Amino acid sequence: MNDLIPPRLRDDCFAMPQGVDWVPVDTALARLKAALVPITQTETLPVGSASGRVLASDCHARRSNPPRPNSAVDGYGFAHAATGAGVQRLKLVAGRAAAGQPFAGFVPTGHAIRILTGAILPKGVDTVVLEEDCATDGSAVAFDGPVKPRANTRKAGEDVAEGALALKAGHRLRAPDVALLSALGIAEVEVFRPLRVGVLSTGDEIVGNPAEPAEPHQIYDANRPMLLAMAERWNAVPVDLGHVRDDPALIAAALNRGANKTDVILTSGGASAGDEDHVSALLRARGNLSSWRIAMKPGRPLALALWSGVPVFGLPGNPVAAFVCAAIFARPALSLMSGSGWVDPTAMTLPAGFTKSKKAGRREYLRARVGADGQAETFASEGSGRISGLSWATGLVELPDNAMEIRPGDPVRFLPYQGFGL
Ligand code: AMP
Ligand code: MG
Repeated sequence: MNDLIPPRLRDDCFAMPQGVDWVPVDTALARLKAALVPITQTETLPVGSASGRVLASDCHARRSNPPRPNSAVDGYGFAHAATGAGVQRLKLVAGRAAAGQPFAGFVPTGHAIRILTGAILPKGVDTVVLEEDCATDGSAVAFDGPVKPRANTRKAGEDVAEGALALKAGHRLRAPDVALLSALGIAEVEVFRPLRVGVLSTGDEIVGNPAEPAEPHQIYDANRPMLLAMAERWNAVPVDLGHVRDDPALIAAALNRGANKTDVILTSGGASAGDEDHVSALLRARGNLSSWRIAMKPGRPLALALWSGVPVFGLPGNPVAAFVCAAIFARPALSLMSGSGWVDPTAMTLPAGFTKSKKAGRREYLRARVGADGQAETFASEGSGRISGLSWATGLVELPDNAMEIRPGDPVRFLPYQGFGL
């Protein structure tokens, strides 16, 4: 038994209401969202090692940024009160203020000091004039007035004030966040442990290792490396559960291995209801299967089950369908499980660069990319065995559940791979 199972997952958590036949994509997504729970284990990491991890608690600024008022430019600092309109001429005090080298003295009203970017404003200085706008002979500085009060200065805490909420629990840390936390004096963060995602391929025809020879009736495993790479992109720990033949005992053994060391398992192949669909047969018999016939193309059969309490996504074998189902269903589900909440893909509206007549009753995903004039171009063939189209594409065009006649220039919804975190 995996002791890391969230207690709230119920055996029938993936069950669709009675009488549901073809499940619309949005219904399936809503069911998934309601059924899954995030992992709870956390660890404390140095901020510099926490990029890609999800915050388990809020982060508050230990220090203001900037901590003290300082100069935004290289120039000359002075008290605004002593300046006015017309040419200003201020005597320079000896010394200078630089970043990391504060000026200890006082700058009397009517005087100026050489000041560099990032230097704390010395006592007596509230305004800075840009070096390029000044003339100097080394003993005095001249510039045109009037100058705005506090020009070219930064207030203490103008970016973030001490104690302010900097980042919320559930946020996945990126490079800019690491910069922010470091600037605020936060050395360590509490993060969720990464989600462990097992990936298993099934099929008598599959050769797991591309370095091995393949007979004419065999094909190389495309799904497992793809799904492992997707899991890695989603900041999970990919766990390779290998490839097994279409043999229920072998599939069960692989799922047992997976359930002991992963939080969620993605399988591909054998997910429909046919004679050779051993994954769905096994999950139906032993894994509280809820087979979802999803009203989408490509994709359709998506088997969802709990195996020893671990959620299993039984993805279709066709690599294009496996990819689309993983991107549409597994990605937000894994995000929720990892503590960063449900995520929707980033979408943009582009003019269609294609013509298509679409039937009602299912959502369609077309392999697409952005053409030279910003139009969404689709891959020549919709065949779901065409892996080259997946690689050719930079995203998916999503066509709604209803019927549609699309002509060049019509607005369509484009979901870039990047918007799936891929
Ligand atoms: P299935 O869902 O098992 O009926 O498989 C549907 C199609 O996908 C068949 O043509 C399989 O040969 C192919 N397929 C299944 N698994 C993989 C895989 N791991 N890599 C590449 N193609 C696969
Ligand atoms: Mg198969």
